[in-house]
Parts: sequence; structure tokens; C-alpha cells
Amino acid sequence: MKILFAAAEAYPLAKVGGLGDVAGSLPKALRELGHDVRIAMPRYGTIREATKELGSFPVSIGGADHDSKLRTLRLGEVPVYLVDFAPLFDRTKVYEYPDDGQRFAFFGKAVLDLLPAADWWPDVVHLNDWHSALAAAYLKTSYAAQERYRRIGCVLTIHNLQHQGLFGRDVFDWAGLPAETWDPEGVEFYGKMNFLKAGIVYADRVNTVSPTYAKEIQTEAFGFGLDGLLRSRAAKLSGILNGIDYDVWNPARDSNIPQKYSKSSLEKKGKNKAALQKEADLPALSKVPLIGIVSRVTEQKGFDILIPAIPEIMNLGVQVVLLGTGEAVYQEPLEAFAAAGKGFVAYLKYDEPLAHRIYAGSDFFLMPSKFEPCGLGQEISLRYGTIPIVRETGGLADTVVDVTTDSKEGNGFVFQEYKAGALVDVVRRAVEFFRTRRGWRSLQQQAMTRDLSWRASAKAYADLYKEARSG
Ligand code: ADP
Repeated sequence: MKILFAAAEAYPLAKVGGLGDVAGSLPKALRELGHDVRIAMPRYGTIREATKELGSFPVSIGGADHDSKLRTLRLGEVPVYLVDFAPLFDRTKVYEYPDDGQRFAFFGKAVLDLLPAADWWPDVVHLNDWHSALAAAYLKTSYAAQERYRRIGCVLTIHNLQHQGLFGRDVFDWAGLPAETWDPEGVEFYGKMNFLKAGIVYADRVNTVSPTYAKEIQTEAFGFGLDGLLRSRAAKLSGILNGIDYDVWNPARDSNIPQKYSKSSLEKKGKNKAALQKEADLPALSKVPLIGIVSRVTEQKGFDILIPAIPEIMNLGVQVVLLGTGEAVYQEPLEAFAAAGKGFVAYLKYDEPLAHRIYAGSDFFLMPSKFEPCGLGQEISLRYGTIPIVRETGGLADTVVDVTTDSKEGNGFVFQEYKAGALVDVVRRAVEFFRTRRGWRSLQQQAMTRDLSWRASAKAYADLYKEARSG
């Protein structure tokens, strides 16, 4: 099957979070299953890789015809189409510009408009999050009269329902969709233009990135105002767990870590811990539990309960190494804890190699998310024999099993209540388990046993594409 995979990020060309990881690895896994998958993404100013120019194509939007260049390169076996329209994309960041509405309406349309220039017609377009979701609305309305577009199936994956792409009516007018789509049954959402809603309404199939999150988003507590719509679309909604790229995340081959190791040589993992302690200027004590955190520093990731819990967590005699960037309201208290010099170290930056060293060098990985569509951090840490401590929500609930409730299948520690006290309790339980050493090595081995590669999930996507084609 031929699939055009559209996303605003794809590792290593551009990555802000988990979406970049998925776009960098799922197409690769689908190729391995024999599908002709190609990626479409904007060419940001930061993408400096050599490209081949495939000519230009018109994008008619905002009342004018714009000339966009089409460039291509390969990520391994996967061809990438880069939409090279400098006025909107030649910038240093992926998101967070005042004209993001125009930028990603343009991208959504360009995903379809580039096909004649590429001279390649997919069976399915696979859209990801709100940034490409508008393509679904164009495909099923303005483009539906054209046979070569009408036969394309459309899948939308929701990587995070919180981010919907909400803009004013002016963005709708600029996008140039048919007037009748400005309707609660279409792209309108309480007087605003909602890109993600457009994708949910018009795509043939919608999925999210874990089975539990697919259920949760149909409830008011997790629905961000779209739960009613999602319930009404339940028949075309499913959950497919994200995998991780086993070429990037493999402790036996990871050139970013000081000491490579595997399930059968777990004793070597200790060298990574000692190196991380040294790097973070912490006492190099193997018996002190080291907790790693690699995360966006936002409400979603549980910082409202983590920050008040930190003093008690540190009183348990642990070391914490945190890597993340995000909101100032959380970063400031984290800096203050770090300045206190009591075993809490915070790197408030984005640093891919350091993330690898933290996954490899920590005993535990903490992820107390308020909600979590899938979560890659806990999957990576399982692969590195670093025991996850997580809240039971979304993909965390689908990947981590508490070892105290299931000593055979258990691979981590899980808590339920979104409260600082519950978080301290679970960390205490985890630390006590670590200190007794009984069962520690088999817990690590159990963590590393779980298959988190893309193989199974890529097959599930291939099935979803088939469904999308048959309408
Ligand atoms: P989300 O997509 O919601 O941010 P995920 O857990 O799905 O969360 O994916 C986050 C990805 O980004 C992981 O690969 C994680 O290692 C990486 N990451 C997050 N923050 C940083 C950072 N500051 N430096 C390096 N990598 C980071």
C-alpha cells in the first residue's frame, strides 16, 4: 500500500516531543512490512540536510496563489517530501508563532497539493495531530470532486487531544474551506476554528496512541471538550500503542552512553550510573537510588503534584536527575530545589544525548503524568532496565504493571490518585524494594523483556489503512 505520512515533526529532522519520535520510526517500520510510505513535512529553517528539488507547486490559500517549492531527501529508506515555503516555515522553531493557524492550514493544503508535483498518489494519507488535520477537511470537501483525490483514504492519529489548533474565524476564511464547513458538525467549535476537530469529523478512521487513552478521551475528564464528538465517532475510533525505535533506543548499541549493556549483562549498567552521578556532581554511591526524569515541564506531565512532593521524596535518601524544558511556573521551583544542592539536579534544557545517559544511568524513571496519550519515556526506560514509576493513566496504564500486585509480569511501580501524597507513597514503595535488593535484578530483566518495538503496532496501522480505504 502507498501511504503519505504527514506530520509537523519527524526525528531527526525536527523533534519537539513524542510526535517527532513516532514520525521518525513508524514509517520505517511500515517500510519493513513492505509498504511504500513517504513522509510530508514543512521545511523549517533548521533543516539543513542536503535535498533534491522536485520543482514547485501552487498552493491556493488566503485568496492568493502561492508558489511552494517541493524538496525531497531520504531518512534511511523513507522518502521525505519537504514543503519549502520560506515565508511561513523558514524559522528556527516548529511551533509557537502568532501565525501558526495560517502556517498549518497551508501545510494541510500543501499535503494534497504537492501530489501532482511529486507525481505520486497514495492510497491513504495518514495525518498526525492538528498540524496536518485540516488536510482531511480539504480532501473530503473541496477536493472530493476530483477522482484522483476521492479515492484516497484518510487516517488521523491523535497524539495529544489537549492541543487542538484553535484559531479565530479569520483563519477559517484564510483557509478557504467551503462555507458550509463552518458549522458545529464541521470545523467550528464554540465560535472558533478547530483544526483537530476538522480531522476527527472528516477522516475515515481516527486513532489515538494507546488503547486506554482511546477510551479516556471519550470521557469528560479527558475529552477537552471533544468527548461528545469522539463518543459519536466511537465506531471509527481505536487505540494503537506507540512503539519505540529499537535502532535509536538500544542499550546494547547506544553510542551516547558510556557503557553498553544488555539483559544478560545488567551488572554493567552500574557504570552508567556512576558516570551520570559524576556528571551531575552527585556522590557516586551505587546503593543510593537514582531517579531520572526526562520530560516536558508542563501540567500534563504531573508537575503540580511532583513539585510539592520533592522535599519528601528527597527525604527518602534518593538522588534525582531531571532533564526538561517547559513552563516558568514549574521551572523556577525546580531551579530552587537544584540550588539547595540536596541531591536534586535539574538540567533545564533540551539535550538528546543527555537523555540517553539518564535513561541508562538511572535506577528508576519517574513519570507522574496527569494524562498520558502513550508516553515514550516509560517505554524507553523499560528497554534500558530502568524501572518506571508511573501514574495509572493512558499509555502508562498499558505498558507498566505494578510488581507488588503482579510479581511475575510486574515491571514497575504504579499509583492511581493524582495527589502529591500518593506520589510520595509510591516512590517510598519503590525505594524500599530497591534497598532490599530482593527481586531487583529479575524486575529489571522483566522490564527489558517487554516487546516495545514497532513491529506489532505497524501491522495494526496497516490494518487501519485498509479500513480507511474501504470507507
Ligand atoms: P511528549 O510527546 O508528551 O512530550 P513522550 O513521552 O511521548 O512525551 O515523548 C517525549 C520524548 O521527548 C522522549 O523521547 C523524551 O526522551 C524526549 N524528551 C523530552 N524532553 C526532553 C529533553 N529536555 N531533552 C531531550 N529529550 C527530551
